Amino acid sequence: MLPVLTEHELFERLRKRAQSFEKARDAVKKIKEMVLSSGDDALIRLTSELDGVTLNKNTMRFPAKGIEESEKSISPSLKKAMDLAFERIFDFHERIKPQNKLFFDNYGNLMGKIYKPVESVGVYIPGGSAAYPSSVLMNIVPALVAGVKKIVAVTPPKAEPPHPAVLYALKLCNVTELYTVGGAQAIFALAYGTETIPRVDKIVGPGNVYVAEAKREVSGVVGIDGFAGPSEVVVIADSSANPRWVAADLLAQAEHDENATSILLSCDESLIEEVRIALQSFLATLESGKTASSSLSKWGGAIKVKDVYEAIEISNRIAPEHLELMVKNPRTYIGYIKNAGAVFLGPFSAEALGDYILGPSHVLPTSGTSRFSSGLSAENFMKATSLISATPAGFFALSPCAGEIAKAEGLPAHYLSLKIRNGREFAGCEPR
Ligand code: NAD
Repeated sequence: MLPVLTEHELFERLRKRAQSFEKARDAVKKIKEMVLSSGDDALIRLTSELDGVTLNKNTMRFPAKGIEESEKSISPSLKKAMDLAFERIFDFHERIKPQNKLFFDNYGNLMGKIYKPVESVGVYIPGGSAAYPSSVLMNIVPALVAGVKKIVAVTPPKAEPPHPAVLYALKLCNVTELYTVGGAQAIFALAYGTETIPRVDKIVGPGNVYVAEAKREVSGVVGIDGFAGPSEVVVIADSSANPRWVAADLLAQAEHDENATSILLSCDESLIEEVRIALQSFLATLESGKTASSSLSKWGGAIKVKDVYEAIEISNRIAPEHLELMVKNPRTYIGYIKNAGAVFLGPFSAEALGDYILGPSHVLPTSGTSRFSSGLSAENFMKATSLISATPAGFFALSPCAGEIAKAEGLPAHYLSLKIRNGREFAGCEPR
């Protein structure tokens, strides 16, 4: 159950949680060596050991026909929900997609940035303890908006085929290449390539601590979206909040993983108590109660704060994946929030609405990485090229100043490449 903690105790917990993730690094490094030295054979061995599933080189790729026919295995209502989610996510990412920017300066030089999609992307669809059709859409739709042509998906295998909703989500995204390999081994296969799984330019997607650590390990070999590991939520609630709604939202994160963390910050002691009572009654009936209860008692916590401003300061230090403001006039606090993957304002902005259907991707930075990174969007699948087209007027006006800097850097060929166009030595920096 959710313990009541002091601020010091909470940060100690978060420190220990981060340390426990670091322990996964040793296991991940061993998996990397195996995949690098034995390719498909390592994938087959690791899948048998870690997932309890027997694969062979012929069954590693899921048949495209199964994706094509997935629609038959889901209800019309789920199909409608997923079609709507696809449309809304596409629309959101289309609206915020980076645009080429070109302009002329006062010498007529043309400058700017042009965006192009990366060529191939590997998408990790988590699937150890739950099926995540929503993650298919939240990962792949921004890539489609960016214009990525080759998309390869991986997901952990089960005794039975992948969930039909996962397959239908792939169909909606027009992705036919799915490999049933999960965990760190799938990330290394996508980064280095094996006989069966192709190497890609960028790997995206959330996952457990092994997946997140493996992505960290291959960063630089391929591009990655960021560290999207075990889920986190901070709920800031005042006396206006409904304690049962707060409890349900804390559980919605805690049920993901025993390593998830759900934190409540409130200035109202009786609200904290009511939330804890509500948690107890929900936990008794939820199918995911065991995981959620373990996550709450191990890594969760409730803290009594002075006011909403103090709560936001604490949250800024945590830099959570999700931040909910269940307080009066939540929009007045937007300017004070420095670090959070996504912010949910007011009682009706349930985090689960954001998980599935609103539009912004639910693939968000965790473990404090929202201090320097953002949720997944089309931008993650694009790279910008700077464009420079100087005019003679621009060259003759600016080259004397560039020449000064080249001399200071002790790079004579740089200076020469400017002087040769000028036809003589520069007299010094004198922009015209
Ligand atoms: P998963 O697909 O991430 O991981 C399952 C795989 O982990 C298995 O296939 C296995 O290969 C590997 N594994 C398990 N135990 C291992 C061990 N001891 N050593 C090495 N490898 C091991 O599925 P999951 O476990 O259900 O986790 C899903 C995760 O995704 C949760 O932590 C959830 O919170 C997170 N999530 C995060 C976001 C986000 O945006 N941050 C979004 C959705 C889900």
